[in-house]
Amino acid sequence: MTEQIHDLIGIGFGPANISLAVALEELHPEISPLFLEARDTVVWQPEMLLDGSDIQNNPVRDLVTPRNPRSHYTFLNFLHEQGRLLEYLNLGLEFPLRKEYNQYITWVGSHFAERVRTSSPVTAVEFAALPDGTEGYRVTVAGGGTELARAVVVAHGRTPFVPAPFDAVESDRVIHLTRYKSTVERLAGELRTGRIAVVGASQSSVELTLDLARRFPQAEVVNLTRGFAHRLKDTSPFSEASIMPEFVDYYFHASQQSKDELDADLRFTNYSAVDMDVLRELHLMMYEQKLDGAQKVHVRNNSVVTAAAVAGDGVELVVRERHYGQEDRERFDLVVLATGFRNFGGGPGQEPHPPILSAVAGQLAHTERGAVAVSHDYLVSAADGREIPPLFLFNLNESSHGIADAGSFSLLSLRAETVARGAGKLLANSADEVSE
Ligand SMILES: Cc1cc2nc3c(=O)[nH]c(=O)nc-3n(C[C@H](O)[C@H](O)[C@H](O)COP(=O)(O)OP(=O)(O)OC[C@H]3O[C@@H](n4cnc5c(N)ncnc54)[C@H](O)[C@@H]3O)c2cc1C
Repeated sequence: MTEQIHDLIGIGFGPANISLAVALEELHPEISPLFLEARDTVVWQPEMLLDGSDIQNNPVRDLVTPRNPRSHYTFLNFLHEQGRLLEYLNLGLEFPLRKEYNQYITWVGSHFAERVRTSSPVTAVEFAALPDGTEGYRVTVAGGGTELARAVVVAHGRTPFVPAPFDAVESDRVIHLTRYKSTVERLAGELRTGRIAVVGASQSSVELTLDLARRFPQAEVVNLTRGFAHRLKDTSPFSEASIMPEFVDYYFHASQQSKDELDADLRFTNYSAVDMDVLRELHLMMYEQKLDGAQKVHVRNNSVVTAAAVAGDGVELVVRERHYGQEDRERFDLVVLATGFRNFGGGPGQEPHPPILSAVAGQLAHTERGAVAVSHDYLVSAADGREIPPLFLFNLNESSHGIADAGSFSLLSLRAETVARGAGKLLANSADEVSE
């Protein structure tokens, strides 16, 4: 029997490819996609669905509104269909609860259930000669065989960044935040009166510190940060011009040196910086504990972890005071890393391409910095300039497209439009070749 050829395989079914599913349905219904999702359900960042946490984007910049405000799939229509629109508006929130936004994302995703295969983690993508004589891709799913496609869209989110010295520790007591909720639920008995470290100075680090303090009021929670202080997020509307389409064009065409300068200028709009509401909440919590003579939560600033090793059921860290050099050994029952994600490149904390592209990476073009080269329209090109079947990297491209490309929803629906239109055009061309 001839193997089925899918028009397009989307790898991952998080917000990016859900937004793409909507864009394809509305703009290119002739394309029949298959989405392969590693998890057993469609859910948004489930390990960080913390009580009380809110989203960090205008909710109207959702999976579709900036592209098509009249779509069925808008956040406002979701609220309307749930019968919650007026109740939600009555909350008067600038930013909705993350739990509510997750419900919106899964609601949109549920419309495409017949196009999604869950529990299907993709392990490899390779070039393949398709049964009709054209070139395409073979996509391998762990324990689930292979699938053929004319085009592939990789939108599986960025790889978590686990810095040294934690990367050498083999223990379930050192986890990246992408494993947070399931771990603390599993270890709740031990953590109740234990010691827990949160490493990092991001929005997530403060949310995690607060969540741990609420979950385990008898535990000691230590937030270790390199810098002098948690920094307030830059929410100036002038800085937020970085989430406008014009900025993407400006950044994409800038030199590498200018890109580095723009990254430095804009870093604190999204990274290593925290919203005022949770900063105040943490600060007040620590102050109240001081009044009560029961300090359980600490922010330990100017602190660099220089070594980490398994110690019984926990982890021992060597923590150096950054400016005076004093070193302390501290044992924790759990260390949670709020240390971010990898962008493409050859530098520290970066990776050249998505690991699932390893089999084809040698044939793909790379930049002077060692990052897989992605066009303005998110297409990857071959190293030798030959034509390859459409391969898109979607919502992964902060190195080439600027700060909002992976870390924000703001332009997601417009990026989805670019990918959908690109796929529509390229697949139409290849259909012409088959019929010639
Ligand atoms: C904790 C957290 C909170 C955030 N909050 C906000 C916010 O409030 N506002 C905002 O604008 N941005 C936020 N972001 C940034 C960004 O918008 C989100 O990361 C968003 O989830 C990105 O969507 P995505 O689909 O690209 O990736 P993801 O959400 O990571 O989804 C990728 C999907 O691919 C699946 N997958 C991964 N590997 C494979 C594989 N090999 N095979 C098959 N499937 C795979 C995953 O299971 C997942 O379902 C947040 C990021 C994080 C980490």
